[in-house]
Amino acid sequence: MLFEPVHIGPLKLRSRVMMGSMHVGLEGLDRGEERLTEFYRRRAAADVGLIVTGGAAVSPEGSGGGEEFMSIYEEEDASRWQPLTRAVHEEGGAIALQLFHSGRYAYQAMTGMTSFAPSAIKSPINPDTPKEMTEDDIQNTIAAFASGAERAVRAGFDAVEIMGSEGYLINEFVSPVTNQRTDAWGGDIERRLRFPLDVLRAVRQAVGPDYPVIFRMSGIDLIEGSTTEEETLRWARELEQHGADALNIGIGWHESKVPTISMKVPRMQFVPVAESIAGAVDIPVIASNRINNAHDAEKVLQRGNVQLISMARPFLADPDILTKAKEARHEEINTCIACNQACLDHVFEGKAATCLVNPEAGRELDLPLEETDHVKRISIVGAGPAGMEAARVAALRGHHVTLIDAREELGGQLNYSKRIPGKEEFYETLRYYRVQLDKLGVDVRLGTRVDADDPLLHTDEVIIAAGITPRQPEIPGIEHAVSYQEIFQRDTTPDGPMVVIGGGGIACDLALYSAERGTSPIQLLQRSTSFGRGLGKTTRWATLMEMKQKGIRMTGGIESYDRIEPGAVHVTIDGQPRTIEAAVVVTAAGQLTNTTLADELQARGRSVHVIGGAADALGLDAKKAIYDGAVTGRAL
Ligand code: FAD
Ligand code: NAP
Ligand code: SF4
Repeated sequence: MLFEPVHIGPLKLRSRVMMGSMHVGLEGLDRGEERLTEFYRRRAAADVGLIVTGGAAVSPEGSGGGEEFMSIYEEEDASRWQPLTRAVHEEGGAIALQLFHSGRYAYQAMTGMTSFAPSAIKSPINPDTPKEMTEDDIQNTIAAFASGAERAVRAGFDAVEIMGSEGYLINEFVSPVTNQRTDAWGGDIERRLRFPLDVLRAVRQAVGPDYPVIFRMSGIDLIEGSTTEEETLRWARELEQHGADALNIGIGWHESKVPTISMKVPRMQFVPVAESIAGAVDIPVIASNRINNAHDAEKVLQRGNVQLISMARPFLADPDILTKAKEARHEEINTCIACNQACLDHVFEGKAATCLVNPEAGRELDLPLEETDHVKRISIVGAGPAGMEAARVAALRGHHVTLIDAREELGGQLNYSKRIPGKEEFYETLRYYRVQLDKLGVDVRLGTRVDADDPLLHTDEVIIAAGITPRQPEIPGIEHAVSYQEIFQRDTTPDGPMVVIGGGGIACDLALYSAERGTSPIQLLQRSTSFGRGLGKTTRWATLMEMKQKGIRMTGGIESYDRIEPGAVHVTIDGQPRTIEAAVVVTAAGQLTNTTLADELQARGRSVHVIGGAADALGLDAKKAIYDGAVTGRAL
């Protein structure tokens, strides 16, 4: 069914999957519009039914930020986006502009303006208290949506999507949590629905009856005391009556305390929300959230309730996902693992989005892939993410590549990540590399530890991707401790009590892994007080919440680790010595670069390329390792 055409109003789509709206932040970079155009062109070229842009602000105070966010409130915006729509059309694609107002989520420091909301209630994830909109503000904002839509038509967009979910302005009017007005715009559901319906009516009037208008409504807010299911169904029915051509169902608000799109959310978890709305209306309904592969998308469509699937991040991970699915090359798809590390976390850090498993995303101008005109023999030591990506890229360019690893399996430390509860998506990354390396004819030598004299390294170029060694802190009695690697390699976890020295990402994962396998109690120790420091903003809170729920203790402020002995760790906290009972002490205290092989080769006068953890262990993660591989594979 994926490739059965479907209509949104008069617009015929070539497939039933649309690329959902993502703010990627390319706009604010040097040559920003060109970058954004190439980003969308690349994706339009590969069978996607409809692309929806990132939110384009309809008025300056409703922008997600400054220059680095799309906008449609100035007259010149109509011509500004024409090259982008032209590029998508040249590839046979279709693109909708998302009409956006961030409401109380706007950062006043970024917009330089007071933010708007139905009531002057601050969001828990934003430092600014918004202004309660006056009647004039409301009417002007409705007009701004309409004129944004009219400009979108002139810019060549094939449709508009009105952003009414995720806790942004329109959604704020619908919810009693954020709308506490007592005038005609607040109170009972009829009055709370007035703003979204007036916006839709004004947009419809601006674009005419024959132009596709999608409304992205919130299917479930996941906020205590917010819009009820009954009210949501009524909202859907009224949107249909007021001229929406399709409903795209959003899940949760940015401030919800329930994970909605992270790796820990089971695949397709929220599809029933969209299905229930589909039961209430006759226009097409679009399901989204944690649908990351074509098989699942097909399954959801086959159930016959919703007519379209929206995937967003999967198009960052693999722009060709649909073409590969169409050609039954599912195993070749680079699957989005829902880590958020390079997409959403980047956006929250004010950086342009890219993708952990596909560093080319958003870097279409910077990382082109060209065939080599000078074929070389290349050996790569280390088949972790850095080595695998370097091998894939070098082989794709035409080089003869040998990839060597002491372990019996590809993937380096990703073989630990994949075993953490809720991080099983890493299996997909390993599958992707296994299939690609095989297809490209990379000579993979597993179970092979090499030293500097190994004939396998007698090649034109040598890449060292040998990763890291765990840091063993200098603590008296450290010989009684084991490293996190040993725990993962052993495949048995201790009964407990288990004490972990370290409280970074690996310590948190190790604790959750051990807890699931029955270890209890577990206690993490750290000198600083903030646990899981290296984890991204969008996932760290959920990891810490899960650890608390599982009774894992986190003790920060350790002044010194005084001694480890069988059965106990001795530490000093608040100037007081303390003994902590421990059947096993595990170190997850950071990592050091594994430079042995590179040093030996360099001592023999060999020039080597050192990448990933072998080059720099500080701030190392899979994102950095894969990026290093992508860059080095192109440089040879
Ligand atoms: P490695 O993955 O360490 O691979 C190096 C490889 O080199 C190894 O397979 C080793 O066997 C091989 N090797 C070394 N010396 C030789 C030799 N002489 N001969 C042959 N082979 C050799 N990062 C994230 O971004 N997100 C996460 O969610 C995440 N979760 C993690 C969870 C856990 C539990 C752990 C331990 C790590 C996690 N990481 C995560 C970190 C990430 O896995 C590492 O940063 C990444 O794997 C480093 O990649 P690398 O290619 O540089 O090295
Ligand atoms: P990390 O996040 O840097 O944490 C290192 C820990 O070791 C800290 O708790 C630190 O705490 C402690 N430490 C450092 N030096 C020490 C010493 N000499 N003695 C005692 N304790 C010491 O590193 P990591 O946990 O090893 O993770 C490695 C990388 O993988 C990180 O970049 C991490 O973000 C990434 N990773 C990511 C994920 C993910 O889900 N995104 C999951 C796992 C790992 P104090 O110095 O305060 O004591
Ligand atoms: Fe998916 Fe992670 Fe890539 Fe984001 S960074 S698109 S979540 S794989």
